[in-house]
Amino acid sequence: TEEIPALPFPQPAKIQDIHHTKLFINNEWHISSKGRTFPTVNPATGVKICDIQEADKADVDKAVEAAKAAGERSAPWRKMDVSSRGRLLHKLADLIERDRVFLATLETMDTGKPFLQSFFIDLDGSIKTLRYYAGWTDKVHGKTMPVDDSFMSFTKHEPVGVCGAIIPWNFPLLMFMWKMAPALSCGNTVVIKPAEQTPLTALHVGALVKEAGFPPGVVNILPGFGPLAGAALASHMDVDKVAFTGSTAVGQLIKETAARSNLKRVTLELGGKNPCIVFADSDLRLAVEETQKGAFYNQGQCCTAASRVFVEESIHEEFVRLSVASAKSIVTGDPLDPRTSHGPQIDRKQFDKIMELIESGEKEGALLECGGRAVDDTGLFIQPTVFSGVQDHMRIAKEEIFGPVQCIFSFKCLPEVIDRANSTKYGLVAAVFTKDMDRALSVSSALEAGTVWVNCYNALHAQTPFGGYKMSGNGRELGEYALAEYTEVKAITIKLSNIL
Ligand code: NAD
Repeated sequence: TEEIPALPFPQPAKIQDIHHTKLFINNEWHISSKGRTFPTVNPATGVKICDIQEADKADVDKAVEAAKAAGERSAPWRKMDVSSRGRLLHKLADLIERDRVFLATLETMDTGKPFLQSFFIDLDGSIKTLRYYAGWTDKVHGKTMPVDDSFMSFTKHEPVGVCGAIIPWNFPLLMFMWKMAPALSCGNTVVIKPAEQTPLTALHVGALVKEAGFPPGVVNILPGFGPLAGAALASHMDVDKVAFTGSTAVGQLIKETAARSNLKRVTLELGGKNPCIVFADSDLRLAVEETQKGAFYNQGQCCTAASRVFVEESIHEEFVRLSVASAKSIVTGDPLDPRTSHGPQIDRKQFDKIMELIESGEKEGALLECGGRAVDDTGLFIQPTVFSGVQDHMRIAKEEIFGPVQCIFSFKCLPEVIDRANSTKYGLVAAVFTKDMDRALSVSSALEAGTVWVNCYNALHAQTPFGGYKMSGNGRELGEYALAEYTEVKAITIKLSNIL
């Protein structure tokens, strides 16, 4: 009831009606073939926002057919100049920028993430990703090879074809852009299935795709459930590639399904149990701040969550004290209030899983320093939680929690901490805090992770590749590296007549 003060920040939009709730196929809005809908719910209030058309296998077939036709050699999309393709991607980025407040508000309503984070991080990252790949459309070129005998060989990089994208609920718009932008930049067509919890921003982008002037069928968006619409996409014989972000279990299923259908290309961004190593010579306040942001950002619902913080013994006590004080100062509340920095978990299933893991931590003997409880009896808010004295064998040390739980461990020496940091099936990201750059570089080389952050955390950029070692995934998103995931390489070899 308290009046929200006018801050020098953007304010959320006042959204009365949601216009885009249908399936987006061929630049048109369709109702579900089975006539089914599902509700999307605001996790901060538990109130239904609206009903969404649910895609079924028949809808997936229709969307894939549209995407395939749009990618034919004679179709406008394939005949379009590469520079015009870049301009279209920039146009889409312009429209997202125009609707930035609206989209950030929708994202907050659907996910529960604080509005300013939606505005400054999700929207910023989405726009930058589109613009980055808009710049690549006329630079995805092949090579000429020196070859034996009287031949000449060169390569062309061609689109893979119809690219499926299966999106999670933790960063609905951003993960959509991480997949769609490089796919379109390379000339592919896409069929996207947003997560069932969070379809709203993707559908609004459907309207912007049409407004920007993309030919029909280039982008198709199918809200629906994993085992039905998601599985239909993964097993479709006319889908040439699928990109997935989500749980390791579903990632394994998708790769299996892809192998059994048409051996479609698969890229996977899965879980993490990411180690941060804090040395005694680090800037302590910076290390506390960054590791904690890493643990609690997006209510801990990040594959990059800083879920294992190893602190050198001599500073461990002080580090825990500062971390607890910092956790207690976090403002939990209405995600649309710009003062809020901590919102609800996405749904009851995730909430229960996190509470069960917190309980296991207490039972197994970790020290619950603060938090550990629901904020109230009915909602999905969990207090920012800090455990110290965590041991490597505990469940909270091994399993992905995907909630606002920071686990602090103590270590004695370098070889020991490297072994402990690497002793996980995951290998997504890691971080090192030290002022000694020589040590930072040796540790970065020794860590088994696709990304290592030095004296920072969650520093993601459109230009820098992102992806996992080991069971954290296959392939890379972002940067130049992602282009390889969306192109086939064709080698053309010419016999020379040797007349000279
Ligand atoms: P999930 O893996 O089930 O869902 C992610 C996406 O996959 C959604 O779009 C979903 O509809 C789809 N999907 C589900 N089953 C599918 C199937 N059989 N075939 C094709 N697509 C399918 O994740 P979840 O159940 O929402 O969350 C469970 C756990 O997954 C979380 O606790 C967390 O550990 C992890 N997760 C990770 C990320 C990440 O960023 N890596 C994101 C979300 C969830």
